[in-house]
Amino acid sequence: MKVFRSPLLEKCDGVIHGFVHDPGGPDILRIASAHGLKNILTVNQVHGNTVFFADSAMGENYAEADSVVTQQKGVGVGVITADCVPVLLYFPDSRCVCAVHAGWRGTSLRAVSNCLGAVCEKYSLKPQDAVAVIGPAIGGCCYEVRDDVASQFASRFSGEGNWLFEKGDGKFLLDLVELNRIELCDAGVLEIETMDMCTCCQDLPSYRRDGSGTDKMISFVGISP
Ligand SMILES: [Zn+2]
Repeated sequence: MKVFRSPLLEKCDGVIHGFVHDPGGPDILRIASAHGLKNILTVNQVHGNTVFFADSAMGENYAEADSVVTQQKGVGVGVITADCVPVLLYFPDSRCVCAVHAGWRGTSLRAVSNCLGAVCEKYSLKPQDAVAVIGPAIGGCCYEVRDDVASQFASRFSGEGNWLFEKGDGKFLLDLVELNRIELCDAGVLEIETMDMCTCCQDLPSYRRDGSGTDKMISFVGISP
């Protein structure tokens, strides 16, 4: 099992997190218990921007959503990905954690700022209070899209920033990590880290490279028991 950690989140007290490649898995309960957590709550991810607030330790896994949030101690929240962008959020003062799944659809639907907005409204927080980490995802080095997807992004997001590169022949390279970083920044988050790991060219689970049989990663964050 390979576990990657964010130096930024490692500096925070009282929070447990990881970006995990558990070959053939992920075996969620095993990963949770290896990190001293009772469970890691996931949702039925549907490439949307719905936020699920997990208020109890059990039975959340069937909720349809792409962000999962909790304030429970000793319980993590996680998202499952193979190329899509996992984003972990932690609000140190309120002890609230969130995991967001943002593939190209979720990114175009602004799943990350939607989650930030919902959490800030529910718990009376500000984006400035959050620490954000963007985990391993397919990078702008490898994520080729056609002009239909590229033009959707060009019309929904301002042209500022380096996140779309034309290759010719109607093909583009799209940098979803950079788009999510800009979105967090625009929302007012001050502490943002990107793991700068490309799932496709750095031997992590990649749907684009290996197709539907690929392994999946889990990216999780939880408040210490
Ligand atoms: Zn790459």
